[in-house]
Amino acid sequence: MKFVSSRSNTSLFSLKDTLFQGLAPDGGLFMPQKYPDQSLRRLRNMETKTFTDLALELAKPYLDEDIDDDGISKIVNEAFDFDIPFKHLKNDIYALELFRGPTLAFKDVGARFMARLINQINREKEDITILVATSGDTGGAVASGFNLMDNIKVVVLYPEGRVSKFQELQFTGLGNNINCLAVDGSFDDCQRMVKEAFSDIDLRKTLKMTSANSINIGRWLPQSFYYTWGMLKWLEENPDVFPVVSVPSGNYGNLTAGMLAYECGMPFNGFIAASNINNTVPVYIRSGIYQPQESVKTITNAMDVGNPSNFERMKYIGGSWKNISEMVSAFEFKDHEILKGIERVYHETGYILDPHSATGYLAMEKSKCKGFFIATAHPVKFLDVMPENIRDKVKVPSYHSQPGNEGLSIKISKDYSDLRNYLLKS
Ligand SMILES: *Cc1c(COP(=O)(O)O)cnc(C)c1O
Repeated sequence: MKFVSSRSNTSLFSLKDTLFQGLAPDGGLFMPQKYPDQSLRRLRNMETKTFTDLALELAKPYLDEDIDDDGISKIVNEAFDFDIPFKHLKNDIYALELFRGPTLAFKDVGARFMARLINQINREKEDITILVATSGDTGGAVASGFNLMDNIKVVVLYPEGRVSKFQELQFTGLGNNINCLAVDGSFDDCQRMVKEAFSDIDLRKTLKMTSANSINIGRWLPQSFYYTWGMLKWLEENPDVFPVVSVPSGNYGNLTAGMLAYECGMPFNGFIAASNINNTVPVYIRSGIYQPQESVKTITNAMDVGNPSNFERMKYIGGSWKNISEMVSAFEFKDHEILKGIERVYHETGYILDPHSATGYLAMEKSKCKGFFIATAHPVKFLDVMPENIRDKVKVPSYHSQPGNEGLSIKISKDYSDLRNYLLKS
């Protein structure tokens, strides 16, 4: 498979270029050149009993020009070494639990796949620096995904004092090839510094760098696989109706990966963008007007995005606003509604939602559709904002691997020159 830019399909890019460039030269996001046939009819002939079996079949058309079947099999088996349960909660609402990876959020799916893919495609064993800015969850997933990989050095930038201790230790506690920079500034500062590094031509001559944020196709493609898995699980229990999927959304990598699965032949009955008050996309879906906003801080901090990078993919896949608004509906929730929802769902079902997953549940309920929502994180990651009377019921699950109790990071200012000096010296 070759890849194209979401802004023009005149140039074709190889998988390797796509992975290492992150963004297309014209500023667009990479997309597969064509959508492979991954319809129910085709899946019937495939051996897809486990998620890894399924992921292997779904990954092949994207990777098989560059990596042989054994290599692809190694990637999916090592990346997806955790369960993805499908649970019935209430009436027509099911949860697809994607937080059973090592850092307890769905980002493990994309980060672990991307890490192993880069490792395979880097046949010349060149030294590569993975630069990533995080507001909390991405840093842990990317650091854990690339931990101990040869020839890879990870540099995580995070806003000092603005991520939870639990999240911080997931990247600062690893050591090894994982380097953490505590920036005296906001997440936006971290992101700006990373962008400056990528447009610093001199720096790029000395360092081979790539970014591991959610626009990278290595993280985005594998997210489409679990939509197909959710569909198969749903049909085992509800063979007569196709599901709607509700997706807690911030940068819209997750939801647009669902749209990719749809284009490849999964007959979803639609998608729901579950949002907090950072509602740039919900407003667009209702009005057709896309107006980026400054992000506002909420208890669902992984969804505090005012100008989602993957909106570009939504437009590319959907084409027109009319099509997009027919395929995707949207609901947004305020902090107090989310907290009340978590308590109510616990009392009604015994299930403890984290604040992000709660938006997915609440949007599903409000839509009155049949389907499932994506449970994006384990509640233990967000204990400090969970309703007080539920907090002590949340236990750290056995599949979480906390690297240690001591974190290591280097403090830097929000001046790009500090980051540049660090990268050149180390
Ligand atoms: C990253 C994240 C989201 C938002 O996902 P996008 O792909 O950016 O829309 C939602 N919930 C949790 C827990 C996350 O970590």
